[in-house]
Amino acid sequence: MTDITYDEWMNQTKKRFHRRSAELKRLDAAFKAFERSKGSGSSLQNLAQAFNIWVGIKGSDYLGSIRNRKLDASGVGPVEKLQSLIRTHRMSNIATIRTLHRDVPDRLVLDATLSANIGDKTKLRETYNRAKMAVHVARDTVLKAKTAGPEQTLYEKWFGTFESTRHLQVVKNFQGLCNLFDTGVIIVHDARAQMDAWGECFGFAMPGNKKNYVEFTVGRAFFLKTGYHVVPGATHRQRGQAVRQALKQAYKNTTDWTVGTMVHELGHATNNLPDVDFQAPNTYQVSPGGMTPDGWEQCSTPALDVDLALASPDLAIVNTDNYGQCAREALALKGR
Ligand SMILES: [Zn+2]
Repeated sequence: MTDITYDEWMNQTKKRFHRRSAELKRLDAAFKAFERSKGSGSSLQNLAQAFNIWVGIKGSDYLGSIRNRKLDASGVGPVEKLQSLIRTHRMSNIATIRTLHRDVPDRLVLDATLSANIGDKTKLRETYNRAKMAVHVARDTVLKAKTAGPEQTLYEKWFGTFESTRHLQVVKNFQGLCNLFDTGVIIVHDARAQMDAWGECFGFAMPGNKKNYVEFTVGRAFFLKTGYHVVPGATHRQRGQAVRQALKQAYKNTTDWTVGTMVHELGHATNNLPDVDFQAPNTYQVSPGGMTPDGWEQCSTPALDVDLALASPDLAIVNTDNYGQCAREALALKGR
């Protein structure tokens, strides 16, 4: 009764003058592949993932979507039917039983190449969880910045002299990032195989006002590990200890820088914040067209961001890097 075929899905979700989004098209393709493979485990997984991404973009009212308008005699629409089909198949598939009771979509979705490697997956999950914690800690910290104290000191370091209109804007932007983590979806793509600037880069997200989902691309720099140094003549045991300690420290440091950069990129994508550029001795401007001109330097280091906050709080509160730095430091302030 709640079954639906691929052809029926395409027919019933068709709507004149409403083009299918990229995510809906991916869902269509996953459904087609699922049917063709007669419901194999991996095609079910792909279908469920594509469905979750699309639902993530629609938000909690996804059943109110125009794609779910063609109801059958018992009042069930195609989106609901597809959801029920996925759930029914998951029941009979022991490998995916774990996700059976999950009613919310996956919040972090990884490319096939990223989910294939356990190290990559761990690094991304760790960064995601830490960035999520960082934006929440930062929001709570700036909320307490109204009165003198360590929170206000931290706030003023990154956003300049306290003033209520600017403060409200900063709170709003951190809240936007919290919402993205709490109710939205972050899709991570792997660009490492590309032999260009994208492949080389740390990470990148398109600027915009994406409140429900953001596509985040990571490059080779994201996965770089910091080297370590051991004194000559050290015993095997000492060497092992030194390496472990160095790696632990390096990992902690790189993790927090990674978090800062991720918050920077997500600020572009979800709050539509620009980069601010600096020209010696003391001129600042919003990066024209997102490109730092020759003779200018992008404010994306702690030193430049601190100077920016002093020189122009109005520009500091729009520079996405100041949010990344503030979030990174808020973690340290709260001993997290
Ligand atoms: Zn940027």
